[in-house]
Amino acid sequence: MELRLIGGLILQLEQLYRDMEAAYDTVAGQLDHSCDGCPDNCCDSYFLHHTYIEWAYLWHGVEALPDARRRQILERAARYQEDSSLLIGNGRRPKLMCPLNDDGRCTMYKHRLMVCRTHGVPASMIRPDGKKLSFPGCFRCQELVESRGLAAAEFPVMERTGLLRRLVILEHEFLEGRRHLAPKVRRTIASMLVEGPPRLAHCSDPRPEG
Ligand code: SF4
Ligand code: SF4
Repeated sequence: MELRLIGGLILQLEQLYRDMEAAYDTVAGQLDHSCDGCPDNCCDSYFLHHTYIEWAYLWHGVEALPDARRRQILERAARYQEDSSLLIGNGRRPKLMCPLNDDGRCTMYKHRLMVCRTHGVPASMIRPDGKKLSFPGCFRCQELVESRGLAAAEFPVMERTGLLRRLVILEHEFLEGRRHLAPKVRRTIASMLVEGPPRLAHCSDPRPEG
């Protein structure tokens, strides 16, 4: 059975995404950091995503697309899957453009996932076990920080802890208390597309995806 996102959860997830965006923009603004003119494009990075609720919200967007566009994206996703499996099989980390990206631009911007929304600026978070993690930001942001001669304690960081906690709460609600039964999600966007919307079977299958 398909796991369906209902209205209230959609609104809460969209609010959380807006808050992520605001937190990101604040730090990016303080650093004068932007992706404009960047010679790289992070959308070809091998990112893994971790929640069923975001997977479902992605599909919420995909299902609203015209049929031809949806087919095109799913074909690209299938190619991505094949190519990335080959590369991983050869011991290489894939660097392949996300199937949702057209000419360098995200075509599902409203539905992009948390990892896409937080990558770029320096960030920190405290894990549930109390360990503090720090992320330096993308290469371009690191160059910016270095060029300013800022020490670690001086530059602004995006605090992710509260945002992630909210996402975990929404994930719990979405899975209706079955989170402990569900295999951990470790999927690329292509894999989420090829697999289809998340299903109840994913939550009773004890084998996590490798
Ligand atoms: S996040 Fe950084 S590396 Fe990625 S596109 Fe933006 S500026 Fe470039
Ligand atoms: S979902 Fe959008 S922002 Fe995220 S990797 Fe794909 S194209 Fe880029």
